[in-house]
Amino acid sequence: MASYDYDVLVIGAGPGGYVAAIRAAQLGLKTACAESRETLGGTCLNVGCIPSKAMLHASEYFDAAANGAMAKMGVKVTPELDLDTMHGQRRDAVRQLTGGIEFLFKKNKVTWLKGRASFTDAHTVSVGGQPVTAKNIVIATGSSVTPLPGVDIDQKIVVDSTGALELPRVPEHMVVIGGGVIGLELGSVWRRLGAKVTCIEYLDQILPGFDGDVRKESNRIFKKQGIEFRLGTKVTGVTVQGDKASVAVAPAKGGEGETIQANVVLVSIGRKPNTDALGLDRIGLATNARGQIEIDHDFRTAVDGVWAIGDVVPGLMLAHKAEDEGIAVAENIAGQHGIVNHAVIPSVVYTWPEIAGVGLTEEAAKEKGEVKVGKFPMAANSRAKTNHEPDGFVKIIADAKTDRVLGVWAIASVAGTMIAQAAQAMEFGATSEDIAYTCHAHPTHSEAIKEAAMAVRGKPIHV
Ligand code: FAD
Repeated sequence: MASYDYDVLVIGAGPGGYVAAIRAAQLGLKTACAESRETLGGTCLNVGCIPSKAMLHASEYFDAAANGAMAKMGVKVTPELDLDTMHGQRRDAVRQLTGGIEFLFKKNKVTWLKGRASFTDAHTVSVGGQPVTAKNIVIATGSSVTPLPGVDIDQKIVVDSTGALELPRVPEHMVVIGGGVIGLELGSVWRRLGAKVTCIEYLDQILPGFDGDVRKESNRIFKKQGIEFRLGTKVTGVTVQGDKASVAVAPAKGGEGETIQANVVLVSIGRKPNTDALGLDRIGLATNARGQIEIDHDFRTAVDGVWAIGDVVPGLMLAHKAEDEGIAVAENIAGQHGIVNHAVIPSVVYTWPEIAGVGLTEEAAKEKGEVKVGKFPMAANSRAKTNHEPDGFVKIIADAKTDRVLGVWAIASVAGTMIAQAAQAMEFGATSEDIAYTCHAHPTHSEAIKEAAMAVRGKPIHV
């Protein structure tokens, strides 16, 4: 029998990879994790979820002080922006959390192999030039920013999400290319700190993939906050001259173009799987048309002993999806039955208010059959009203015959936290009646979920 250096070698230490490595080690497998970055935690901890949330949280305070929201509650302050300190606390959060993964690796006896990994054969990988063998290899190499053809990212004037987290000063005018989650979150940060923000979106509405009502209502809220939108508009080129950029735009469906001047341009049109440097050809593994690695239900690739998870495989590009797949793949490698229910993966936009959803959109649910929909406005929720947070709603989509909940969508200050309840209910196969008859603490934003469930049956109490 062949002997290997490790039972499991994970390539990539993002939320998919580091979680897979820890669970594999917990299950008694000799495990290593190769990472080309200097620190562990992947995109999520280093340049994604965590630093963006640090900037969103801090800028939310600034905005509340600057836009009169605090004064309305009797707290009068004139805020002064100390951007260096704001960046400092962001870097601190990243340092502490990435260091935390290093601690967890040591605690669980996961070997951290430093360097870029590429396949030599299906059981051998070269990490920083050193051969390492493993019985099972998990590809968890994540994703990186999709470039816009013809647009050079210099991380000063034309930035991607990583550059947008690090801007040394508030730009006068920021043009955000792409009205998806990342563009709206980072656009919100700089809008709150004083930038004029224009968001250009190719489609007719922002937040593709989200429920139609939610897309429309969020667009209205962001406009009210001062973000300008150019929907149904394509960017045909970006040129930089000195410290300014000219963004050439035109209607997506054709027509006369124009030029928008900006101090900073954020390119946030999506992310692409990282497979280029992996040497997949050496193990005979091809990617699909979208550059992703195809897997089966158990996260096995077409090559025996090689598995894949996270942003590099099809599905939502989200950290919690990658983490759950990390646990499942390790359990499958150990001979257990690791499963991820891809129908119940929540999505959250961490703006103000937050926007969240899980399961089907109303549009997708209607394509599958007859549905009942219940909606409850946050303006009628006592806690939201007391907190001066009137915007948003909760919407529940249920199967018209069985009443089983198919999707839940929410726009509310704490929608990202509220959506966990909906995901759990759906995971247990709840009906809207189950949610409507579950006692919710008062006064909480979550009562809006109960009321929306009551609205499915046409009988909410507070509207
Ligand atoms: P990654 O986190 O991308 O990690 C892959 C790792 O593999 C990287 O560290 C990379 O250096 C390493 N690697 C790649 N190739 C090799 C190689 N050949 N050898 C060795 N190492 C290699 N998701 C959320 O759920 N919530 C959020 O709030 C959120 N906010 C985001 C904000 C921003 C600005 C961005 C950019 C992303 C955000 N995401 C968010 C998405 C989230 O970061 C990703 O879905 C998640 O990190 C994917 O995890 P992963 O483990 O698949 O890959």
